[in-house]
Amino acid sequence: MNVPIMNLPAQFQTIREDVMAAVTEVFETQYFVLGPRVKKLEEKMAELAGMPFGIGTSSGTDSLILALMAAGVTKDDEVITTPYSFFATVSAIVRVGAKPVFVDVDAETYNARVDLVESVATSRTRALLPVHLFGLVCEPEAWRKAAAKTGALLIEDACQAVGARRAGFTAGGIGDFSCFSFYPTKNLGGAGDGGMVLARDAQHAALVRMDRVHGGRDRYYHDRVGICARLDELQAAVLLVKLAHLAEWNERRRTWARLYDERLSRAPVTVPRVPDDADHTYHQYVIRAPRRDELRDFLRGRGIACDVYYPVPLHLQNCFGYLGYRRGQFPEAERLAEDSLALPMYAELTEPQVETVAAAIVEFYHGAS
Ligand SMILES: *Cc1c(COP(=O)(O)O)cnc(C)c1O
Repeated sequence: MNVPIMNLPAQFQTIREDVMAAVTEVFETQYFVLGPRVKKLEEKMAELAGMPFGIGTSSGTDSLILALMAAGVTKDDEVITTPYSFFATVSAIVRVGAKPVFVDVDAETYNARVDLVESVATSRTRALLPVHLFGLVCEPEAWRKAAAKTGALLIEDACQAVGARRAGFTAGGIGDFSCFSFYPTKNLGGAGDGGMVLARDAQHAALVRMDRVHGGRDRYYHDRVGICARLDELQAAVLLVKLAHLAEWNERRRTWARLYDERLSRAPVTVPRVPDDADHTYHQYVIRAPRRDELRDFLRGRGIACDVYYPVPLHLQNCFGYLGYRRGQFPEAERLAEDSLALPMYAELTEPQVETVAAAIVEFYHGAS
């Protein structure tokens, strides 16, 4: 039985009519960029997270850049973040001219350790940028306290966590800003690139809105040098259809995660730990596995897709060599790069597929039963 890493065609079949109707409507109006559907999506995303302002953007990466710009993060400022995330979390910091400062991650939740933030904060710390990695929200109150204590703004990278909850908060509703991606592989994915910034403060939101379209308050009059990072109506139309299914899809992912958890208790792997106060959305289901590379090849040989997120921790990326970080400085992130493995995880999985993946992993370690 083949198990792909995701199955968007199967998802599409379940929403085909609604998506095609929504897309057709956009073509009928020929109104393509920053129109009424984008506005509606902005309102819905803000409402979901309990934030007052939403600003649709062209991607998660641009959302991060826009939030950092609006937060006033600039040259020589420092932003504290995680060394274990998708590249864009840190490239956005560098794009605005600032310096990424890392804290190691927790071995069980894979999220940055908020208890280490104060030890690396300086007078130049301008923002904290935690990531809700794989769909598990970081400790909301602890990060808020750390931001207050260090005098930094709190920017959430919620690109992998739309709809995730923890301790009474929804991902994206904790910080001063939050950033989302609608890249097709995310839990809420469009038909191309897209993203969203949520902001708590009206002034901040106004800056993001300006910078999204070249930094002009009125067209052709520029107080700031913004970027071009607009969201289009086709994306918003598709995303509005999909948003209505998100809670149900996330619940399905949780069902598969519980089944993986149970079946994998027979293998010497570590399954993701979910704190009691968290609703994980399993953007990825990532295990820690001895002999990881051998297991990966074994599974692929069986037609079971799996992948490594991420093979190189960010402090060891060639392009960040100038920051002067060395191997050994963030040992947990480095270990994760060596032993983490993401298994197939999406709503459209079937029970036999999950059973097949789990049985193959048990067989890899214990032999065929
Ligand atoms: C996907 C992702 C991004 C970037 O989003 P794009 O829409 O691909 O630009 C940023 N951070 C994290 C954690 C992501 O997973």
